[in-house]
Amino acid sequence: MVSLRCGNLEIEGESSSAVATYLRVKELDLIFDLGRCPMSFIGIGHVFISHFHLDHYFGIPIYVSQRWLNGIPPGNIYVPQEGADQLRDLVEQISLLDCGKVWDYRLTPVQPGDDIPFRENLVAHVLPLDHRVPSVGYLVCEIRDKLKSEFFGLPGAEIARLRRSGITVTNRVELPLIAYLGDTHTVPVDFHPLLKGCQVLICECTFLLPEHRDRAAQTMHLHLDTLPTLLEVFESEHIILTHFSRRYSPETIRTQIRSALSPEDLSRIQLLI
Ligand SMILES: [Zn+2]
Ligand SMILES: [Zn+2]
Repeated sequence: MVSLRCGNLEIEGESSSAVATYLRVKELDLIFDLGRCPMSFIGIGHVFISHFHLDHYFGIPIYVSQRWLNGIPPGNIYVPQEGADQLRDLVEQISLLDCGKVWDYRLTPVQPGDDIPFRENLVAHVLPLDHRVPSVGYLVCEIRDKLKSEFFGLPGAEIARLRRSGITVTNRVELPLIAYLGDTHTVPVDFHPLLKGCQVLICECTFLLPEHRDRAAQTMHLHLDTLPTLLEVFESEHIILTHFSRRYSPETIRTQIRSALSPEDLSRIQLLI
């Protein structure tokens, strides 16, 4: 399993097109996609699935059953609305086949535009992606209370007194921590105003060579060609590229990325290979 440090966050997992994509961010208690489920992922409480291609969700029955077997309360699994009922049937059938009863599990269908509050201070905004089957991305933000500007400079005791008297002294602000773009042919850069400012961007880059442009369009994936323009709009300090086609060796991946991107972009890029 690969482990990439991005400031305060560590992104762990694997991602290979058509094989499996599964990523864990322990600090945020979340998983993005679950194409396989390593045992070290079982204790994580929130699973955000991008779409129903097997390499992105096949680990769900293992995640559900292992938690159940170990007496851990069900985790929260978020999936695209289209297909959620079929997944429910699948999990329940697998469960019946396995032990004659249905495991406890918690599945929440989501669609673009939804906001999912989780843990005490996090929210995931659901983004629309563009793939052969319905696919969503996620932008995870930290929620903070920020003192309103009119109260700047007041002593703490005075602020506490105002708060006790029922005055709202803070505004809710969101800090965009991490965005995950699973399989997609385009990126919805303007869908959420905080997306471009996310600290960490995880983005697929399935196809690299010029002769695979058509293949990228047919299978609705990103091609390296589109990356330089895309990266211009993202202010992200850390960018992780994932989901490379299996036809490329690690050496080809490194060479192609190096030749296509500026030194500034390369300095913020890490490859999940
Ligand atoms: Zn995929
Ligand atoms: Zn896919």
